[in-house]
Amino acid sequence: MPLEALYQNLILDHYKHPRNCGKLDGEAVRMRHENPSCGDHLELYLKLNEFGKIQIAFEGWGCALSLASASMMTMAVKEQSRTRALEIMNTFRALFLPPHAQVESLGDLNAFAGVSEFPARIACALLPWNALAEILNRSECL
Ligand code: ZN
Repeated sequence: MPLEALYQNLILDHYKHPRNCGKLDGEAVRMRHENPSCGDHLELYLKLNEFGKIQIAFEGWGCALSLASASMMTMAVKEQSRTRALEIMNTFRALFLPPHAQVESLGDLNAFAGVSEFPARIACALLPWNALAEILNRSECL
């Protein structure tokens, strides 16, 4: 199977069967982000456990890219430290900047590298990450 088709299947799979979908139990920071140009809505729930590891879930509706990105993002940062999550986020964002090189450590998230050919859709792929950034960069949230 060509890599592109594999990546498309991965995105469709996460769109149809989103992981970590729902709310978090107990007190969690809730962040709502929208992408009006596409009609994507996302609610991200995040808290740190007693070991400082991320617990995360989301609810959303919108296009396959935004929902698959949210699903894969939660898988990538769940149980990670805040510092590590920010590292992953910066590596992911770099996919959309020249030279658009895939990064081995991103694993499945490399599926979004092809989106850089469709600049209008980059906002879809980044929607959940922008919500994550807003929570992690505002220490008073956590
Ligand atoms: Zn979208």
